[in-house]
Amino acid sequence: MKDPAVCAFLVEPIQGERGVYTPASDYIPRAIAACKARNVLFIADEIQTGIARTGRLLCSVPDDERDPAKRPDAVILAKALSGGMYPVSAVLARDEVMSVFTPGTHGSTYGGNPMGARVAMEALAIVKDEGLTANAERLGSMFREEMGKLVGQYGFIKLVRGKGLLNAIVIDPRTAHDGSPLSAWELCLLLRDNGLLAKPTHGDIIRFAPPLVISEEQLMESCRIIAVSVQQFA
Ligand SMILES: *Cc1c(COP(=O)(O)O)cnc(C)c1O
Repeated sequence: MKDPAVCAFLVEPIQGERGVYTPASDYIPRAIAACKARNVLFIADEIQTGIARTGRLLCSVPDDERDPAKRPDAVILAKALSGGMYPVSAVLARDEVMSVFTPGTHGSTYGGNPMGARVAMEALAIVKDEGLTANAERLGSMFREEMGKLVGQYGFIKLVRGKGLLNAIVIDPRTAHDGSPLSAWELCLLLRDNGLLAKPTHGDIIRFAPPLVISEEQLMESCRIIAVSVQQFA
C-alpha cells in the first residue's frame, strides 16, 4: 500500500516545545516500520531529543541498532550538537538518501563552517568521554522518581513524564483566594525565587531540560527546590 502523495513523515520522537509529550516506547519503531512498508521516508527531528538528552545518542534508535530497516532515513540535529556553544546544525541520512543531493543542489552561506564542525566534533567527544548518555538515563530516572512523590502528595501536580533528562510536570492550574490565576508561569516564578530556572509551556506544563553535565548532587538540589516551591504554591 503506497500513497504517491506522501514522501516523508517528519516527527520529533518526543514533542519538546509542545510539552514533552512522550509516546509509548513502541511508537517510533512501529512508525519506522510503517514508513518502510510504504516507501515513505522516516525523518526524525532530534534537535531537542538528540545527543544523549534522552539517555541515548539519538532518541529514535538504540545506539547499537545497525539494521537500516529499523533506523530513521534521516535525522535532523542542532543545538546540543555543539553543546549549545556555537550555531551548528546537521542532517544525517543514509547514502541512498544523501546522494540525491549532487554538487550545487543545495547552498548555504555558512554551510560547512570549519569552526562549527570543529566545535561539534569536540562537543561529541565530551558527550562520549564524560559518559553523558548514561548520566542522562540515570539522573532522569531519579528526577521522575522524585517528581512522582510530589504527584502522590499534591493533587494539583498531575503527572511527570519524559525520558532521560528531557522531562516535564503537568499541573492543574488553580485560582488563588483573591481570584488570581496560579498557573505554570506563577510556579516558575516561585522556582526562580528559590533558585531554579525552568520554562512553562501552555499554561499547565513546566519543562525541565538541565545541562547534561548536571551532577547527582545538583539534580537532588533541584528536586528539593521544586518540592519547596510546590509546597509554597499549595
Ligand atoms: C530549535 C528547533 C528547531 C529549529 O532549529 P533552527 O536551527 O532554529 O532552525 C527545529 N526543531 C526543533 C525540535 C527545535 O527544538
